[in-house]
Amino acid sequence: MSLIVCKFGGTSVASPERIQRVAKRLIARKQEGHQVVAVVSAMGKTTDELLGLASALNSNPPAREMDRLLSTGEQVSMTLLAMAIEARGYKAMSFTGRQAGIETDGTHAKAKIVKVHNERIMEALDAGIIPVVAGFQGINAEGDITTLGRGGSDTTAVAVAWGIGADVCEIYSDVDGVYSADPRVAPRARKLKEVSYDDMLELSGAGAGVLQMRAVEFARKWNVVIHSRSAFSDAEGTYIKEVAAMEEAVITGIAHDTSEVKVTIRGVPDTTGVAAKLFGSLAANMVNTDMIIQNISDAGITDISFTCPSSDLARARETVERVLPEINAREYVVDEDIAKVSLVGTGMKSSPGVAARAFEVLGENNINILAISTSPIRLSVVVDAAQAAEAVRCLHTAFGLDSDSVFKETQLSAEEIAAKMAKGR
Ligand code: ADP
Ligand code: ASP
Ligand code: MG
Repeated sequence: MSLIVCKFGGTSVASPERIQRVAKRLIARKQEGHQVVAVVSAMGKTTDELLGLASALNSNPPAREMDRLLSTGEQVSMTLLAMAIEARGYKAMSFTGRQAGIETDGTHAKAKIVKVHNERIMEALDAGIIPVVAGFQGINAEGDITTLGRGGSDTTAVAVAWGIGADVCEIYSDVDGVYSADPRVAPRARKLKEVSYDDMLELSGAGAGVLQMRAVEFARKWNVVIHSRSAFSDAEGTYIKEVAAMEEAVITGIAHDTSEVKVTIRGVPDTTGVAAKLFGSLAANMVNTDMIIQNISDAGITDISFTCPSSDLARARETVERVLPEINAREYVVDEDIAKVSLVGTGMKSSPGVAARAFEVLGENNINILAISTSPIRLSVVVDAAQAAEAVRCLHTAFGLDSDSVFKETQLSAEEIAAKMAKGR
């Protein structure tokens, strides 16, 4: 008998029919002899809808109220799932983040889990009950509700798995595992059997939304094995774990991210302290800058560009408008139609020439590179958003990652697929 955490994402609990299916799945796991804890996301697009409601009333809603509001999405799905399980003759009990003992730091909207007080979940398990935990939320030291960032139910699941000493954390979604690229963008992507924590961390950080980066970070730190698998089939998925003596592929996968924007400040005097002033002010205003590019100066004047999440753009504009006169810069422009495409692989460390080959392939396909950044196991380029899918596909082929089979959509409606593709904006 094992102890397993089963997390179901928004698409998997989007309707009463799908909640029924999740209930059946959990009961089947229990009948196999396992002890099961469920973690759920909000139904379908609930979180986006709640965000829309808030912004209709306040363009800059208070963070405390926002977290309180967003946490309700998961509280709806947890109770419905518990009811569906009970209707099938099994015992279930729902728990909000607070009731499940998820203690976080005080950062609203991006809180970090600091402790899991597991008593209530353990008591429920001992009583033969299936605990159903609301993902994405916790409680801070003041007793206020916090949320864990978009996609944060993955982190709840991993944290609960760690907190109760589960054997595995199963993360069910609308794809049957982690692929070498988003299979909806690159249909020839191949499903990976295993991915190391390091590779998965880079893939998630570079935009592979199948697992939230924080969840992978948490899993790596506490050695929690993640099994990413399909909510719609029994197929084996992908294991994220410490992969011993893995045959290191040069490239494990390609991720893309359409959630960033590029800001360019033109006519900046090339003098000491300008970058410190600009980026210091951005950091103080909670703008998470990612890539930074400074051009060679011409007659003491240069351009500086940076990328940041589009969710930080309002704060970035505000900061740049304030700092512009202080650093005597001429103007700034924003490009929202960009995408970051990243090649990831632990094997890159010992394999020179990846960057050269990638640039060559992009050039052959008439894809212009707007910015570049690297880490020992990642190469990222910024391209025009309209060329992102093409960039992923041609790099996927050029680095020998293509599978013989083509990804087939099984359960999602056309509307759900469109919403998935638009994600990140
Ligand atoms: P959930 O709502 O269940 O949390 P997500 O939408 O967060 O599910 O994650 C699943 C989605 O991640 C898939 O629909 C797929 O389009 C996307 N995705 C991005 N990169 C990858 C990848 N490398 N492998 C598999 N799926 C990926
Ligand atoms: N409901 C939250 C979101 O949409 C958290 C999650 O789904 O994991 O981001
Ligand atoms: Mg997710």
